[in-house]
Amino acid sequence: MKPEVVQSYKNLLTQRIQDLLLSTGHVVQTMRDSNETMPDPCDQAFQEFFHTISFSLRDKDRQAIREIREVMKRIDEGTFGICRMCKKKISEKRLMAHPATTLCIDCKRREETLQLNHRTIPESFSAFDWNMEQ
Ligand SMILES: [Zn+2]
Repeated sequence: MKPEVVQSYKNLLTQRIQDLLLSTGHVVQTMRDSNETMPDPCDQAFQEFFHTISFSLRDKDRQAIREIREVMKRIDEGTFGICRMCKKKISEKRLMAHPATTLCIDCKRREETLQLNHRTIPESFSAFDWNMEQ
């Protein structure tokens, strides 16, 4: 992947983290008080910043930020945009829509089919457990 493309993904992801954080009033207040700009999500400063504010975030937002940081890590490692199953390149269109994805569309579909096939098993087990407690 070209360095300028990588950089544009990084910018996009940093922007997404900022949007997420700014959607909570507490964080805006914190940032205004400290009078600092948003740290780079790969920096140690962000680790500390994220730790400080994470208690005020909803689980969904925390999860999203964690995923974005995972993507940043993969960008730095050079594995971003490569399918973890078949090792082929994931299409840029797919990455733009779902930057956190680690699967190409073919492998994703295969995984979803597998998950659908497995879904009936835990449900029948939990129903069984429930009956046993009666
Ligand atoms: Zn694949």
